[in-house]
Amino acid sequence: MESSDIIAAIATPPGRGGIGIVRVSGKDLKPLTLRITGGILKPRYASLSEFFDETGQIIDQGIALYFDAPHSYTGEDVLELQGHGGSAVMNLLLASCVSGGARLAQPGEFTLRAFLNNKMDLAQAESVADLIDASTQEAARSAMRSLNGEFSSAIHGLVQALTDVRTVVEAWLDFPEEEVGSVAHSDIRARLKDIQSRLEQVLSSAQRGSLLREGLSIALVGKPNVGKSSLLNQLAGEEAAIVTEMPGTTRDTILRSIEIEGVPFHLGDKAGLRETDDVVERIGIARTRSAIEKAGLAVLLVDIREGFTHEDQVIADSLPAGLPRIYVYNKIDLLEKFPEIQPRRNPLGERVIYLSAKTGAGIESLRRALLDMAGWNAQTGEGIFMARRRHLVAIAEAADHLNCSGHLAEYGDRLELLAEELRLAQRSLSSITGEFSADDLLGEIFSSFCIGK
Ligand code: GDP
Repeated sequence: MESSDIIAAIATPPGRGGIGIVRVSGKDLKPLTLRITGGILKPRYASLSEFFDETGQIIDQGIALYFDAPHSYTGEDVLELQGHGGSAVMNLLLASCVSGGARLAQPGEFTLRAFLNNKMDLAQAESVADLIDASTQEAARSAMRSLNGEFSSAIHGLVQALTDVRTVVEAWLDFPEEEVGSVAHSDIRARLKDIQSRLEQVLSSAQRGSLLREGLSIALVGKPNVGKSSLLNQLAGEEAAIVTEMPGTTRDTILRSIEIEGVPFHLGDKAGLRETDDVVERIGIARTRSAIEKAGLAVLLVDIREGFTHEDQVIADSLPAGLPRIYVYNKIDLLEKFPEIQPRRNPLGERVIYLSAKTGAGIESLRRALLDMAGWNAQTGEGIFMARRRHLVAIAEAADHLNCSGHLAEYGDRLELLAEELRLAQRSLSSITGEFSADDLLGEIFSSFCIGK
């Protein structure tokens, strides 16, 4: 993965803008800088400069910034050319860099170099992309917390605590006859318990961060004409789906993303799940079923005037077992009823909500229920780390190994197994910050970045 060639990219988005930036990074950029700006630049000073092409013709005039290694984003020499933000100017500047010895950067390659040069760890590097991609303000804030290193330092703290325990256990293994310091088995058990509870806190923060990043997919299901499109429109606040009186008009799966308190929800307005000969409707239904398989929550709509019919039961039964549901009795306005919310007495925390998709009465209760069932509680927006699925998997693996370590420490006679479980727990956690990361994982992570970052 190590490379020392010079990379260059247009770092600003395509199109017209006041300023456009070409960014260059490499081991020694002095010759290239001299070629393009015609001079030697004072590091970290904004220098007004002309930018030249390979024939010595002026392309543009702008600000040049030179950062000398290692005091730069990538840890190498970095040159930033801030020119006029038009695509022709930017392309000419980039071409000039290439003719001066640079090659076009791959997506995320600047940040990859920052990681390889120990400017940031892997979790921080990932949060750079998450900050750029953040679709809500909450998501941006938590990505910034991860970029600042809050997530990494929580992980480092746990790794350090595990290392301390491992040191004692390994010493017991190596010198079984001797007292190792004054550490007792009960002390190790207490330390493991403490690490476990800290790990749980980190997991809960990371789960909430992951929710901000990925959102929750919701399958909106119900008989034709029950009000699915109307409900989607109410939640999305726009005329998103076609609403008509004809059963079967919502033929396709329309995915809309809405934001409630910064949490993204991806709602599919589903074709009515019924037997039909209409080919187009059948395609819609097939897509609905595949969307339902990916959903984390189902909202099942029922027409309050008809009550929960056999047809509704068939739809409910067709949902994956264990998929949490919210039952919505719609069209309360037609019976002049007030909105209402009732918990269902089951372990999934399911609810029954009476509302009107037409008037909007009761929609607020549905929004709250969606947040609750997504595992979001509003008071604790602080301290959330932006996390990815791979982080959650690593934390869960570490928790499993810690759990085993806890049991082994209770008995105290299988020290070699205890040492191994502790080693595996530490390895899982260290993979988050990138201490043990295979090249293919790095390739996968950085390829999803934008070019120029
Ligand atoms: P879908 O087929 O389930 O997507 O149902 P639609 O959203 O297209 O709604 C079918 C019809 O029911 C439309 O005429 C809607 O205006 C009407 N409708 C939907 N929700 C309500 C409601 O809460 N109250 C009333 N009065 N009509 C509703």
